[in-house]
Amino acid sequence: MNSYQVAVIGAGVVGSLVARELTKYDLSVALVEAREDVATGATAANSSIVHGGFDPEPGTLKASLNVKGTAMMPALAAELGVSYRNNGSLVLAFSENEMETVRALYERGRINGVPADSLSVLGREELRRLEPNVSDEAVGALRSASAGIVCPYGLAIAAAGNAADNGASLYLSSPVTAITKRDGKFLVTAGPHTIQADYLVNCAGLYADRVARLIGDDSFTLRPRKGEYLLFDKSEGNLTGHTLFQVPTDAGKGVLVTPTVDGNLLIGPTSVFSDDRTDKSTSADGLAYVRETAGRSVKGLNFRQVITSFCGLRAVPDGAGQDFIIRFSERDGHFLHCAGIESPGLSASPAIAVYVADLLRDAGLPMRPNPRFDPCRKSDHWFRRLSAAEKNEVIRKDPRYGRVVCRCETVTEGEIVEAIHRAPQATTLDALKRRLRSGMGRCQGGFCTPLLVELLAKETGKAPTELCKGAPGSLLLAGTLKKGAEQA
Ligand SMILES: Cc1cc2nc3c(=O)[nH]c(=O)nc-3n(C[C@H](O)[C@H](O)[C@H](O)COP(=O)(O)OP(=O)(O)OC[C@H]3O[C@@H](n4cnc5c(N)ncnc54)[C@H](O)[C@@H]3O)c2cc1C
Repeated sequence: MNSYQVAVIGAGVVGSLVARELTKYDLSVALVEAREDVATGATAANSSIVHGGFDPEPGTLKASLNVKGTAMMPALAAELGVSYRNNGSLVLAFSENEMETVRALYERGRINGVPADSLSVLGREELRRLEPNVSDEAVGALRSASAGIVCPYGLAIAAAGNAADNGASLYLSSPVTAITKRDGKFLVTAGPHTIQADYLVNCAGLYADRVARLIGDDSFTLRPRKGEYLLFDKSEGNLTGHTLFQVPTDAGKGVLVTPTVDGNLLIGPTSVFSDDRTDKSTSADGLAYVRETAGRSVKGLNFRQVITSFCGLRAVPDGAGQDFIIRFSERDGHFLHCAGIESPGLSASPAIAVYVADLLRDAGLPMRPNPRFDPCRKSDHWFRRLSAAEKNEVIRKDPRYGRVVCRCETVTEGEIVEAIHRAPQATTLDALKRRLRSGMGRCQGGFCTPLLVELLAKETGKAPTELCKGAPGSLLLAGTLKKGAEQA
């Protein structure tokens, strides 16, 4: 049985960054994930905004960790080779009443510690100079210059990979289903493994309440709240430079219009509670609401250029106005919750990781610096950024980089093979997509899917009929035609 000082349960952006943070110290660390890949929960489907920090209630963890995390994000993304852009955000006001809210958000931002020079209140003319396509109805806005956009699953994948490169053990396909204690240590049943740990950090996203119950802790319950989106082709990516919000309501930050780090345009999300933690379906009503509401912010949305829709699930704690739940369980002082991490959890995630490490240190975990820690990781999708001469040199050494498999996103065979073999290893079509954008372009995998299946089969040693799109059971192929014909 493998034994660790800390086991982190759940490899979304929070768990992956927590595990990476802990490898900065001379500690044995495990990152334990239920699914076949990291970043399949809320981290896979959200707005990707690095928020300015003016929205959360002052005095909350949400507020302080948002402001700190947003400040850390540019350097972290650079270290990990993750796409990030400091594009700034605007909260649009459509009436004098809403301008009052905009001014209140400015004040709140200052109380939260948002740097003074990054927040400004804009009038009608200034707003149009910055964003000519903004709706004629908008009368002003709050500008947050420190806000940005980041690839959320890219961040989690890179953090988990960097944690593994720095010595953490990564357990995929290992759902934690039982936790007991023997001789002062946790015994964790995780899929086929039993893992021993001195400390556990519960980063299980929407299932963190269920993981808490494994030690008899029922202090919080989580509810899924759906967020539906529409994604546009890159032809629309320049409609706005800033992320455009409307003034927030009780249901959240409302429907936004934003460019993505990959040059697409994204609109959404809805905000509707659900009773089903697995329901990531989109609905005609939800998407109609998104279309209509986003259309208030900006002129010229071209819905003929929508290439896909998707839905993410927020992990909302029961009870109004809940903060992030980052504290030791009252049941066990070695069991640390990192739960209810809804928005701005992505923005806050770098600071959450540091906060968790500090809590563990304060609880008595010995934390000496790890002299071998390397903060850097090469991007998964690196080839396209090279100059023509550099590309030629790489192809001369390895012709697989000269074969483009996904034409829409320019993904080479060499990068695909790398992603299948480096930590965290990609074993499904969706895992490749999250690392390389293969199949995310205009044709949505129409051209490259058979080639990706061939490569996955060759590199993993599996039969094509064993390969999945994503979750276990999502088989890509039902069988071979020849076999089918023989059976008929
Ligand atoms: C619609 C929407 C929009 C959002 N927009 C933004 C935004 O623009 N900006 C922002 O800052 N934040 C945003 N957020 C919030 C942000 O996405 C989350 O805060 C963040 O992704 C949470 O990460 P996590 O690691 O806590 O959870 P998750 O990403 O859900 O990861 C939890 C992991 O735990 C694993 N797990 C569960 N149970 C077990 C078990 N028993 N054993 C092992 N593993 C387990 C899951 O498989 C999963 O991989 C948004 C969220 C949503 C849903």
